[in-house]
Amino acid sequence: MTRIVAVCRRDPAVVEAVRSSLAAHADIQGSISGARQVVCWAELRSGADGGSQARELSALDGVARTEVFDSNYALVDRRTQSESTTVPFGSLQFGRDLVVIGGPCSAETATQVDSVAAAVARAGGHALRGGAFKPRTSPYSFQGLGEPGLMLLRHAADAEGLPLVSEAMCAEEVELVARHAHMVQIGSRNMQNFRLLEAVGRCDTPVLLKRGFMARVDEMLAAAEYIYCRGNTQIVLCERGIRGFDPTFRNILDLSGLVWLKQRSHLPVIVDPSHAAGTNELVAPLARAAIAAGADGLLVEVHDRPEEALSDGEQALTPGQFATLMLEVAAVARALGRRLAPGPRCAGGEGIAMSNAAAD
Ligand code: PEP
Ligand code: MN
Repeated sequence: MTRIVAVCRRDPAVVEAVRSSLAAHADIQGSISGARQVVCWAELRSGADGGSQARELSALDGVARTEVFDSNYALVDRRTQSESTTVPFGSLQFGRDLVVIGGPCSAETATQVDSVAAAVARAGGHALRGGAFKPRTSPYSFQGLGEPGLMLLRHAADAEGLPLVSEAMCAEEVELVARHAHMVQIGSRNMQNFRLLEAVGRCDTPVLLKRGFMARVDEMLAAAEYIYCRGNTQIVLCERGIRGFDPTFRNILDLSGLVWLKQRSHLPVIVDPSHAAGTNELVAPLARAAIAAGADGLLVEVHDRPEEALSDGEQALTPGQFATLMLEVAAVARALGRRLAPGPRCAGGEGIAMSNAAAD
């Protein structure tokens, strides 16, 4: 089925003009309102000339973009925008710079969060991660500290000059998380929580959209489209492993999926080797492989005392392991003609700086 979309200014007169133009060629149509824009869409009648319809719409005042497409997404598709999107995060840009985010699975105590943030920064990491609202399989597992956890994370991130990414689990939490964090994470279990996608689509904060562990890559792009079509175009995709048949592994890191997403979408794609691996020993090799395969960055769990972690301790890197990983990632990047930007506290990044110098 062929569809057409027109991205227009949020102005009733503009939307009305677009809808009546669409009505001449389509029986089924609708509109999606964002904070500043409205996307009008229609299913074209068979045999309709999408090209001339698109030209007619583009000529209307207030129409920014029109696309004719035959899948479940248009605006995030590289076929409609060949140029890669960059997403600002602190002083870096996803899609231009390799961004390594480190931090605990969950914020637990001020000491833990401060010490992990300092270790991430010392190693040359670019950003802090950490959950305050935790999607846990069991209702009897640690559920996160909530807003006090966000405050601990933000305090530690600011002290180290790092931007912060943290998860919102429902639409009602988006505003709160966006107030404390620089980027809102949508977790794997929520990739198709459409109300949540709509809520982050209407806000201005960048979004880290993780792949559902049972979701196909095309479903992931359709989920990203839910956000993008409401006007929030600052989306970073994250491959974090999908469920396989083999209980040896928590998940299977889908590097084919990473490459496909990079080719098929103009959005940056990073990799979370921690949830893909499930165990500490697999994290660094998977991280290196992800960079080699073209990932725009990494999301890595780090804990100062992994054996005492309240969530995901088995897959957490120690600060020392994270520092080693940063050097390895810099070396892999260099081998491929890319460079790792120095983190804001790049002291431990001397090795990274040396790697970069060798690449220049
Ligand atoms: C997390 O990043 O801590 C997390 C819960 O990840 P995922 O949603 O990928 O399981
Ligand atoms: Mn985790």
